[in-house]
Amino acid sequence: MSYTALYRKFRPDVFEDVKGQDHIVTTLRNQIKADRIGHAYLFTGTRGTGKTTIAKLFAKSVNCENPVDGSPCGQCRSCQTIASGASVNVIEIDAASNNGVDNIREIIDEVSYSPVEGKFKVYIIDEVHMLSIGAFNALLKTLEEPPSYVIFILATTEVHKIPITILSRCQRYDFKRITIETIADRLRDLMQKEQVQVEERALKYIAKTADGSMRDALSLLDQCIAFHFGEDLTYDKVLDVLGAVDTAVFARLLELILAKDVTGCISLLEEVVIQGRELTQFVTDITWYLRNLLLAKTSDNNIEDVIDVSSDNLVRLKMEAEAMDAEEIMRYIRIFSELSGQIKYATQKRILIEMTLIKLCRPAMETTNDAVVARVKDLEKKMEKGIVQAAPAAIQSTEMPVAAAPKPELPKAIPDDIKQIVTNWHGIVGETSQPLKTHLKNAHLSLGGDNRLLIVVEDGVAYDYLINEENHKHVENMISNFLQKEVTVQVHNLAPGRHFDESYVDLEKVINMEIEIED
Ligand SMILES: [Zn+2]
Repeated sequence: MSYTALYRKFRPDVFEDVKGQDHIVTTLRNQIKADRIGHAYLFTGTRGTGKTTIAKLFAKSVNCENPVDGSPCGQCRSCQTIASGASVNVIEIDAASNNGVDNIREIIDEVSYSPVEGKFKVYIIDEVHMLSIGAFNALLKTLEEPPSYVIFILATTEVHKIPITILSRCQRYDFKRITIETIADRLRDLMQKEQVQVEERALKYIAKTADGSMRDALSLLDQCIAFHFGEDLTYDKVLDVLGAVDTAVFARLLELILAKDVTGCISLLEEVVIQGRELTQFVTDITWYLRNLLLAKTSDNNIEDVIDVSSDNLVRLKMEAEAMDAEEIMRYIRIFSELSGQIKYATQKRILIEMTLIKLCRPAMETTNDAVVARVKDLEKKMEKGIVQAAPAAIQSTEMPVAAAPKPELPKAIPDDIKQIVTNWHGIVGETSQPLKTHLKNAHLSLGGDNRLLIVVEDGVAYDYLINEENHKHVENMISNFLQKEVTVQVHNLAPGRHFDESYVDLEKVINMEIEIED
């Protein structure tokens, strides 16, 4: 039994069957009904959103002898000749392979002859942004004074590459990405016609993966049906064919990230790789998973409508969302969306993902604002639990209990006190005696939790010296005297083999930059 691709089999014959571009379809049909047809149209939008489909329908309609409510009748001679591909009135040109001046000149020569039969000659130029400058100029001349019987429909995914002179002569139609709901509805209709049983979850997954493109959705569905021909199509089968991963894996991965278990994360990824999963898809899916998590976290009711998961999964999702805070999820989403953009064309996809997982487990390795916030949060959690070994010098002066301390801010809003200390650091250090002087000279300045000054040292001797209670107090007093104000100071020891810049915000650099800008 031969199998016709769904995309061909169900190419819309009438405007009613075109889904998700109602605003365009309505306008075009009205033009046909009112007989107010333009001579140059520009259809723009991402791939698979129906540009050529609508262009062909339009070409049929304008030539149809008995259009029905703006749609082609499908019965008359014109409709049938066009459908069979034998019509000389509908000319399709792929500008990707015919982009030269000569190609366009050929068309222009033809344009001068009126149609032998039918009303209009319709030129559909696909991927029109691929035309050379010369070709555009040649086309422009015709667009300036088109014969009454000629219609140009230019289609493109990259409208910014079209010269303004061309744009200004076209009626422009922006094709939207088609919503998951609309795609799923269409797929459901077609599967009923094909008498294939499909799980709703499976349809939703395909619709989501197609990312706004009806054509992609249909070809994905095709792949799945062809693979399991004659069987019911379940969610699991779809995941299998498309190389996707069940959401349970994401839950496990997230748990490992939250536990900061780098080894666990890497071996889970290994499992995914061994199962032969497609890694680009994996990243897209986990981003969606996090998005669902964020929705579960932030909205109270009716989220079933926006989250396409089963009710069991929804309960689980809500439980998982409980364990995280919204900002944290947003940070993850940002990181994974970034990765999603990079990974598409990368050759070492696995390594990119591994790096991201390590980044998530070890925010201390990043110096972005996001990462700093994550680190501060970690610190806050530790302090709440009373684990302060990680920052042994976080000894509080009596005036500043932890609970009442102001919320930490990003380095952008460095307190004036700290700025003063940093800009006068050399002077302050100069007043001290050895060995403190050397230790402080070699130290770096950064911002710790609660916006306190953080002194980062690179060797254990300096660290031991500075966290000694008496010495630590001495440093604090010294700085307090300078500011004439009570100050607390934290001391960190830089992890071996790491650069200060990689793990901490360099306060001296940030502040000096600011000073330059202010000047
Ligand atoms: Zn007709």
